[in-house]
Amino acid sequence: MSEELGRVVASHGRRVLVESARGERVPCTLLGRRLQAVCGDEVRWRPDTMAGHGIVVERLPRRTALERTNARGGAEPLVANLTQLLVVFAHEPRPDYFIVDRYVAAAELLGLRAIVARNKSDAGALPPPGPEELENYARLGYHTIECSAEDGSSIVALDEQLRGQVTVLVGQSGVGKSSLANRLLPGLEAKTAELSAATEEGRHVTSVAVLLHLPGGGDLVDSPGVRDFAPAIELLGQPARAFREIEALAPGCRFSDCRHLREPDCAVREAVSAGRILERRYESYRRLNRLSEKLAPPPGG
Ligand code: GDP
Ligand code: ZN
Repeated sequence: MSEELGRVVASHGRRVLVESARGERVPCTLLGRRLQAVCGDEVRWRPDTMAGHGIVVERLPRRTALERTNARGGAEPLVANLTQLLVVFAHEPRPDYFIVDRYVAAAELLGLRAIVARNKSDAGALPPPGPEELENYARLGYHTIECSAEDGSSIVALDEQLRGQVTVLVGQSGVGKSSLANRLLPGLEAKTAELSAATEEGRHVTSVAVLLHLPGGGDLVDSPGVRDFAPAIELLGQPARAFREIEALAPGCRFSDCRHLREPDCAVREAVSAGRILERRYESYRRLNRLSEKLAPPPGG
């Protein structure tokens, strides 16, 4: 039987839903134990002997992959071929900017764009230091947006930022990710239920990652597994790369391999003391650095 190309639009373990070039959606199983495919993967598949079903025979190379570090320290792919992260925070739950930094760092390490969105602009001010935090991300060169899933403000502007992109929604629980997705994709809940049902063949499972097409073009990936991920270990080799203001100043350090921790004549620590680098961003860097060392101890250390 002839093989064709397709794209995984929902995945749950070894069951995937493949969208064909003609736009059909076919529940598929993966051929062989070693083959792995997640939402966003491009695959080669063929119809199964069972009508309406297919078999994924090959995964095409991934351009990008968002991976989580699992309990055994291994990297577990969550979404493939994404092009940007939409990092959401709000005044409620109280924002943890270390978490925002961590998602932004993940995007940076993957070479992807991060959009930082403050949701619930209709409903109250950010706790101190307030709007400054969003401005700080803008000053670093990230696209920022203040929006409201509730009253719809700046949803059009947000939608424009998602056109033609494969965007993954991330952020603390309760910031309004589902509400934003619903605004951007009318009928989202029904579509998600349909996709997860097709993947699960009727069983009710809520942990299915789904990729949905935005009306204006582009895709939005909503994945429960992505919502609390940590950047995968191999990406953490050079944590400074994850912080663009640190990376920018590193050439001014005395040592070319300066880790910006206790080294003398460190341009980065000087900038922190002078207030040119935010203390919190530097602390985020130190935390990621500690994590990196814990996961991959340096030789002899
Ligand atoms: P998620 O956990 O990030 O997916 O957050 P939800 O979308 O489930 O939203 C959490 C809560 O915040 C719900 O009670 C929403 O109604 C509320 N919420 C979401 N977006 C907004 C918003 O723009 N303004 C206000 N006032 N409430 C919002
Ligand atoms: Zn330094």
